[in-house]
Amino acid sequence: MAGFQLKIATQHGEKVAEEFGFNQFPIRPREIAKARDIVIQAKPAEVKGVSGAIVFAGDSATIIYSTEYGNKGFENFSIAHELGHWFLPGHPEEIVKGGGAHMSRAHFTQNTSIELEADHFASGLLLPSHLTRKLLSNNQIGLDGILKLAETAHCSITAAAIRAAECGAYPMAIIVSRGDEIAYAFTSESFKNLGKLAFLRKGAPLPVGATRGFNADAANVMRAASSFSLIRNPRPPHREDHRAAPHWSKPSRYSRICQGR
Ligand SMILES: [Zn+2]
Repeated sequence: MAGFQLKIATQHGEKVAEEFGFNQFPIRPREIAKARDIVIQAKPAEVKGVSGAIVFAGDSATIIYSTEYGNKGFENFSIAHELGHWFLPGHPEEIVKGGGAHMSRAHFTQNTSIELEADHFASGLLLPSHLTRKLLSNNQIGLDGILKLAETAHCSITAAAIRAAECGAYPMAIIVSRGDEIAYAFTSESFKNLGKLAFLRKGAPLPVGATRGFNADAANVMRAASSFSLIRNPRPPHREDHRAAPHWSKPSRYSRICQGR
């Protein structure tokens, strides 16, 4: 998908935050949904692996979000992602048009593009660039600033880290690893401009060193997760997993199941 379209989706999220009167952190997606008469429901705890869904019914909609990670930032991002499907041009039409069949076309064409757009919308909504830049400039560059951003904006650490790399002037690379592999990586434009640096691909082996050694012991990961809630937000950004409609949502022509970050 063209980066330009994703940038437009991010800007659309920022615009919606502003239109609903949010000129400081945190932006509250629940209030935006309420103002549009969109019902928000928590997903039953026994349904795992789906971060959210939107169900269109006539002129209204219901957003369903997951509480299984117990991470408010993750929930906010999921709700904001679903709002993207409501606000972004063409999304409601595509979801309605797609009927139930769209969920089985995993990782293909249009489905993937609207998921990417909704993720970028959510990022712009919860982390408008001017507020993000302001906060980052008042805090230490690096993890401390990212943690402060996540805490202030009520979003996940992953979302804050990626947005910090997008908005900050300082070269930044966000690298997420699992075990001895790279799960995904995101580099800022200023980082890319540094010169000939290796492009980190998903599945590439982690070099032997501190991080690989740290990951080798599950107890380390669990301890860090409990400190930073990182394990509660295990999904890579922009990844979508389309599944059959779960039993808690009547199979609907107008629903969309989503996974966010
Ligand atoms: Zn989605």
